[in-house]
Amino acid sequence: MKPTYVVIGGGISGLAAAYQLCRRGHKVLLAESSTRFGGWIQSIPLGDGIVYETGPRTLRPTGESGRSTLLLLDELDMTGSAIAVPRTAKAARRRLVCIDNHLYPIKTGLSAFFFPHAPFYVPLLSVILKDLSTSRKACDDESLYDFTYRRFGKRIADNGIDPLCRGVTGGDAREISVKAIFRPLFEAEQNYGTVFGGMLRKVKLPEVDIKFSPHGTEHVDSTSPSVIRSRKEHWAVWSVNGGLQMLVEGLLRSLRSHQAELYLGTPCQRLEFRDGVAKVDLGRTTIQTRHVFSAVPAPALAGLLGEEHYVLKQLLNTIQSVDMGVVNLEYEGKVLKREAFGYLVPSHQGGRALGTVFDTCAFPQKNSTILTVMLGGRWFQSVFGDDPSSDDLLEAAKEEVELRLGIKVPPKRYHVSLHRGCIPQHTVGHYERLVGMRDYIRDHCLPLTIIGASYDGISVNDCIHHSRKAVNELNLV
Ligand code: FAD
Repeated sequence: MKPTYVVIGGGISGLAAAYQLCRRGHKVLLAESSTRFGGWIQSIPLGDGIVYETGPRTLRPTGESGRSTLLLLDELDMTGSAIAVPRTAKAARRRLVCIDNHLYPIKTGLSAFFFPHAPFYVPLLSVILKDLSTSRKACDDESLYDFTYRRFGKRIADNGIDPLCRGVTGGDAREISVKAIFRPLFEAEQNYGTVFGGMLRKVKLPEVDIKFSPHGTEHVDSTSPSVIRSRKEHWAVWSVNGGLQMLVEGLLRSLRSHQAELYLGTPCQRLEFRDGVAKVDLGRTTIQTRHVFSAVPAPALAGLLGEEHYVLKQLLNTIQSVDMGVVNLEYEGKVLKREAFGYLVPSHQGGRALGTVFDTCAFPQKNSTILTVMLGGRWFQSVFGDDPSSDDLLEAAKEEVELRLGIKVPPKRYHVSLHRGCIPQHTVGHYERLVGMRDYIRDHCLPLTIIGASYDGISVNDCIHHSRKAVNELNLV
């Protein structure tokens, strides 16, 4: 048996890294501080077949990281458990933006191209012309808001990108890095002068799938049944029957079958590095290992390091996360006037909600309508104070659906979660700081790899993909 590698943090990133290590025949010890595995992935089954998601709920099948998760599904023998929303479904096509308490669908058809429609109030043709006539601004990074304002105009920034950023990151587009969220758009401008020009030139490149073998990274055409199925059936987004928690259970099954040591309620308390060996203090025991994978949030890792790593600690502490209230509301029968993925609320509209997901439009569940209201995010403290109760969050969610969806009946059942520090904010300059962290780790020969939502992308796909990549790229003995 090869030596033990230690993974700290049992969210999807830590589990995915532990799984990749086990597949290579390594002995793995995974320590999770809380009483359950999965981190922010948490599906709550209610006993009668209904499932609420309190964290992530949909995954995209496309892109390198999208295909990485589909590949994982196959590796875990879970190909048949995927449930998908095709691109033609209203739950995929219709995405709403709330302006003055009205919900407007984002239109992309011919009419939107030539005529102004809410929520942008400008024809998309003029947005493209603005981009094509705006000269390149050379820079290392920029806020998502400034970038879109400059290239596409104020309406797109205010009513498109701002709410999208709130929906995806819980954050403020004026702070979030364009490179972190829309790297291809940023690079299109930097490399080709305009976004649309750059994107068109890139689209011509043939799509190559990345498949990972235990011995390194190969570029091959995908033979993954799930990738093939997702293309054939034109998936827009997908999930797993029983909720995304089932993906966590699949990983745990595999880890147990590989005899991985899995510890719950075991916080790592300190990390020390000496002569290429890591000492991992787990409270009741200290493990010596030749390499640690840290899959805990960046500030949590900073708290484990000694003052001799002051520079690294400072960089890690720049990645702060926002709080979010997540309220699942369940109603008897159909209570929505129209089908859609859900709606987002731009920050200039004020209010306490970032948006509401129409869960059962995407994945119907019996005769229920399930809505999930996302509250607070970057604005959490200013709208809820330091310590709101569950009742405060529930009332805010009920008020939201009454105001914006006209739902006056009380929910049949509900679930309220207050997620403290749940989404890391990749603010302007994030990638430069990330390079700084990795340079520090390399220059000081620390046997440490940093993975997880704090670093290379916040989506579940990104977490899985970068954990896989990190294990693959490391020259493990
Ligand atoms: P985490 O899930 O934060 O896991 C880190 C783990 O480390 C935790 O279990 C924690 O307890 C543990 N830990 C902390 N300190 C220690 C320590 N000292 N020792 C040991 N363990 C420790 N993504 C999507 O792709 N699609 C979505 O629809 C989507 N929706 C979302 C909705 C919400 C409400 C939230 C919060 C996130 C959503 N995301 C979505 C993002 C995605 O879910 C997360 O970014 C991802 O799950 C993070 O996984 P992780 O393993 O990197 O981190």
